[in-house]
Amino acid sequence: MAADLPLRRDFPFEYGRLERLGPGLRRIVARNPGPFTFKGTGTYVVGDGAVAVIDPGPDLPEHVEALLAGLGGERVTHILVTHTHRDHSPAARALKAATGAPSYGYGPHAGGKRGEPAVEEGGDWDFVPDVALRDGDRIAGPGWTLAAVHTPGHTSNHLCFAWEEQGILFSGDHVMGWSTSVIAPPDGDMAAYMASLDKLLGRSDKVYWPTHGPAIDEPQRHVRAFIAHRREREAGILHCLRAGIGEIDAIVARLYQGLDPRLRRAAGRSVEAHLIDLIGRGIVTAKGPPMRYRLAHPPRG
Ligand SMILES: [Zn+2]
Repeated sequence: MAADLPLRRDFPFEYGRLERLGPGLRRIVARNPGPFTFKGTGTYVVGDGAVAVIDPGPDLPEHVEALLAGLGGERVTHILVTHTHRDHSPAARALKAATGAPSYGYGPHAGGKRGEPAVEEGGDWDFVPDVALRDGDRIAGPGWTLAAVHTPGHTSNHLCFAWEEQGILFSGDHVMGWSTSVIAPPDGDMAAYMASLDKLLGRSDKVYWPTHGPAIDEPQRHVRAFIAHRREREAGILHCLRAGIGEIDAIVARLYQGLDPRLRRAAGRSVEAHLIDLIGRGIVTAKGPPMRYRLAHPPRG
């Protein structure tokens, strides 16, 4: 991981407690820490009295119980899902059963196309939103309006939610403060991810609240650093190919030195995502299996 990424891991919180972060904004963190979830899933509550819940979280009954206990007599009117990974959407079912609130999201995981090999073990194939949102769609309650911002890349159905009155963007797993995002093909798409980062540069949100980890209070700088990081990674991959290193495992070993072994597979998926993007742009060709990648137009001499 490049040293110049402005990553932050300071994250004061307490499991099981619905904590106030600002006017009309609360969060409760689920106890599902891990190499991809940091301390766990941060479930946000927007509004007071009649509230929206963003990313209800994993299928952990005690998480939903703690959320409902924290809300006391308040009414949940909307359940919003940024995307269908198992640490984000499964608790929508229990929360809906308890509150009757409809769920909102882009659509089922990977467009519901289950035919792919089971490379995306993190997908929640059971979630289907009651209301399908498209880019720019708005949902409102007392004191808040949330606009859907379609940001495919991490998954094809990823949405960020912009709280327009407050200049807040709930950035899901698209942009996080503690880590880069995993882009795992086939549903993860590097070209789409880069376009979705560019899309955020064209916005004027003041702060991002990702689903994992702390807030990002200089979002433009952060997004620009992530774009630079991926371009650097792409350059590193091209450098490997130029040197005749054409297998994903060997590229990972070269580019991700000192990597947590639990993340090696994810790193391989991200390298593959870059290679698919480079193939799409006519820069790289592939042969296999086993897959070997090379430059489409190798330098001569
Ligand atoms: Zn995710």
